[in-house]
Amino acid sequence: VIVERDKAFLVRERQHRIGRSLSIAYGSAPLKIVAGEGAYLIDDEGTRWLDMVNNVCHVGHCHPRVVKAAQMQIARLNTNSRYLHDSLVEYSRRLAALFPDPLNVCFFVNSGSEANDLAIRLARAYTGNRDVITVDHAYHGHLTSLIDVSPYKFAGKGGEGRPAHVRVAEMPDLYRGRYRYGDTDAGRKYAEDVKRQIDALAAEGRKPALFFSEGILGTGGQLVLPEGYLRGAYAHVRAAGGLCLADEVQVGFGRVGSHMWAHETQGVVPDIVTMGKPIGNGHPMAAVVTTEAIAAAFANGMEYFNTFGGNPVSAGIGLAVLDIIRDERLMHHCAVVGNRLMDGARELASRHTIIGDVRGYGLFNGIELVRDRDTLEPAAAELDFVIAEMKERHRILLSSEGPQHNVLKIKPPAPFSADDCDRFLEALDAVLAQVKAA
Ligand code: PMP
Repeated sequence: VIVERDKAFLVRERQHRIGRSLSIAYGSAPLKIVAGEGAYLIDDEGTRWLDMVNNVCHVGHCHPRVVKAAQMQIARLNTNSRYLHDSLVEYSRRLAALFPDPLNVCFFVNSGSEANDLAIRLARAYTGNRDVITVDHAYHGHLTSLIDVSPYKFAGKGGEGRPAHVRVAEMPDLYRGRYRYGDTDAGRKYAEDVKRQIDALAAEGRKPALFFSEGILGTGGQLVLPEGYLRGAYAHVRAAGGLCLADEVQVGFGRVGSHMWAHETQGVVPDIVTMGKPIGNGHPMAAVVTTEAIAAAFANGMEYFNTFGGNPVSAGIGLAVLDIIRDERLMHHCAVVGNRLMDGARELASRHTIIGDVRGYGLFNGIELVRDRDTLEPAAAELDFVIAEMKERHRILLSSEGPQHNVLKIKPPAPFSADDCDRFLEALDAVLAQVKAA
C-alpha cells in the first residue's frame, strides 16, 4: 500500500531521495498527476489538464487496449527473448512491414538511448569507421555515447564540449539560419555543411561511421527540414563510406500525419532507424530497424543480449499500439488536427506580431515567438509567461524548445481532438493579448 502524501512532502523528499539533476515540471507550482485518459491528465484534486506535451502516450494516456494487452501478458508470462515466443516474431514482422526494403531486421531494446547506442555499434561494425556526424543542437540520448553526439548536451550547461570523434553539421534552420524560407536551394546548401564535416574528417585521415538526424528537429526548435536536405546529406555520407540514421524516437509512428516516419517527408531511406517513446505508449521499450547486411556485419561472434528487450509484455504492448494506430486512423487524425492547429496559429499570427513562425507536420509543431519580426529577437521570457498562463488559467500543459528557448513546443497524444485544438487556439489568443497588454 502506498501512502498518499501531499505535494509539499513529495517535493521535499524528492530533493534528497532522488538525483537532483532532474527538474520538476512547473517547479513553482508542481502538479501531482494521478491518472490519464486520452489527451488529458488528471491531478489529485480531480482537475483535468489538456496534455500537449506528451508524445510518448501516443495513442492516448492509458488506452484501454494497451492496458489490456499489458495486463493479459504480464499475468501469463514475462521472460527474456531467448525462448521462442509468438508475439516477438509477430511484432518484428509488423514493425519491419512499416519500412521499405532493405530495412528488414529488428533489434529490441528498452529506451531511445539504447537504440541509438546500438546504432552506433552497428555502424562501426559495418563501416569499420568510428566517427559520427550530428546536427547542431540535437539530442539523441542520455548514455555516455549519446551525450557525445548531442550538442544540446555537450555544448550546454555542464557539458564537456565536442569529443574528437564527433563533427557537428550546421542546423538547417529555415527561419533564422543562413539560408531561409524562400531559398529553394536551402536543403542542398545546408547539406553542403555535412560534406564540409566529412572533408574535415578526411583531412585528419578519418571517415564517418554514422550520420545522425531526426526527420524534424526536436531540440533544434521543432524545425521542419528544408526540401532535399536529407537527400543531399545522405548522399555525401554514403559517398564517404558512412551510414545514415533516422532518429524517430520523438517523431515516429504517424505523428507527422503524412507518413509513418518523419524522415519519409524527405523522401529518403535510411540505413538504420531508431524508435522509442511512442512505440510502447509509455511502456519502456524501443527498437532499431536496419538492413540484413548491417545486421550481418554486427554478428561477428559477440552476442547481443538485452535482458528486457523484446520481452513478451513489450511485444504485446507494441502490437496493441500498432493495431490502435491502424484501427483508429491516428495518422490521418494527426494530419487533420495538425493542419487545423497550424492554420489556426497562422491566423493568430496575422493579429499577434509576436508569432514569428508556425511550423511542423501533423501533430509535431513549433510556434516561434519573437519580439521583432525583422531582427528575430527571441521572446523567451514572453514564452515562459505564455506557458505559465496557459497552465494556470486554461489548464493546458505546454513546453518550450529551441536553442533560444522561444519556441512553443506542441506534441500532444494523438487523440488530441479538433475541440481540444480549438480550445488551445482560443486560450493562446487570450494569453497573447495579455502579453501585448503587458
Ligand atoms: N532521441 C531523441 C530524438 C529523443 O528525443 C530522446 C529522448 N528525449 C532520445 C533519443 C532518448 O530516448 P530515451 O530517453 O528513451 O533514452
